[in-house]
Amino acid sequence: MVKVCDEHIELAIDIMVDEEEIAPEINLLTEEEKLSTTCEYCQKNAIYVVANTYSDTTCG
Ligand SMILES: [Zn+2]
Repeated sequence: MVKVCDEHIELAIDIMVDEEEIAPEINLLTEEEKLSTTCEYCQKNAIYVVANTYSDTTCG
């Protein structure tokens, strides 16, 4: 699972698809999370969280 800014969302998806060979799940961070989270690939605040969908820890 990676948290990324708007510039790196496509990069994160590309890497995830390449590694997992499935489309990842993309969610928006909350306003609070945005302020406290840095992008995986640069120093900007993260906006999205990209997760692979075969995690077996489903909540709900
Ligand atoms: Zn970034």
